[in-house]
Amino acid sequence: MPAAEESQQARREALKEVFAEVKGCVRCSELAAARKNVVFGAGNADADLMFIGEAPGASEDEQGLPFVGQAGKLLEKLLVEIGLTRAEVFIANVLKCRPPGNRDPLPVEIENCREYLYRQVELIQPKVICSLGNFSTKLLRGDPTGITRLHGQPQPLTLGSRTVRLYPIFHPAAALYTPRMLETLREDFSRLPALLAMAELAQPETLEVPEPLEESESAGTQAESVTAPGSEGIEADQLGLF
Ligand code: URA
Repeated sequence: MPAAEESQQARREALKEVFAEVKGCVRCSELAAARKNVVFGAGNADADLMFIGEAPGASEDEQGLPFVGQAGKLLEKLLVEIGLTRAEVFIANVLKCRPPGNRDPLPVEIENCREYLYRQVELIQPKVICSLGNFSTKLLRGDPTGITRLHGQPQPLTLGSRTVRLYPIFHPAAALYTPRMLETLREDFSRLPALLAMAELAQPETLEVPEPLEESESAGTQAESVTAPGSEGIEADQLGLF
């Protein structure tokens, strides 16, 4: 198997492992007790474009899939307008569980769930991340500047071992009933194909982890990148599009 394909396969398997872990997560006891399903995210596990929303709502919790309600329909429509389908991108949220009554995510919940999102980014390796609205934009930038000031302006962002282009845009739910906002969202969307066509940003140096020497091994030092283990048999029912 060519090395790129092998790495893609390993990343996909590792993503399924993260999914299995998130399914059992009880870090936020209130959310874990109330959820019908964990909404891990769905789409192409090797997508160039990743969308990050806020948190699942009632329909998402019911189906275990992100953006399946009205906002999701709009997101899909805007994608089609720029020649993309839902199956080609990966869609995730800051929180993987629905906050009761659709309240805003709490800072402690965002912190609890952050690690899962960052692992998704590291494994999917998107070129462009579209943060949808304030919650994901503020989390990813680590700064309280709001979406109204930032939307439509791409910027480099390094998350762990990946440098991507972050492209903040309004949350589609905000554009559902406000024609002016929909117009802005559509304009921002129209710049996505050009962003995706740009050369990938230089990646940070990969961390090389030296393997401990076996007693029988001679003095020559071996350095190897960490590779994700396989995960045969893990169900990926929510990841239908993988
Ligand atoms: N809004 C979000 O932010 N995420 C979803 O999955 C659905 C609606």
